[in-house]
Amino acid sequence: MDNKNETTMHSLIKTRSMGSVRCLQCYERISFPAKAETAACPNCGFEWRLSWHMGDNFPRIRGPVWETNNRLIAEAEKKAKEEKK
Ligand SMILES: [Zn+2]
Repeated sequence: MDNKNETTMHSLIKTRSMGSVRCLQCYERISFPAKAETAACPNCGFEWRLSWHMGDNFPRIRGPVWETNNRLIAEAEKKAKEEKK
């Protein structure tokens, strides 16, 4: 019982040492190492450029990584067209 609580505490501390933001596409929480320049959403795959101007513990999404997101949008549109046939 005590051991289990300690493990939970450790994982919370570990999460706090990393940055996380909410995906602007699907609102999934994205975690990444501190000072990462970009982060990809584990849910929808969209990738975001990060800004750390607020400090090491305050990551912000600065904008999309268009090369990644445009490719994902194009793939989704292609898939949607194929499904309509
Ligand atoms: Zn997402």
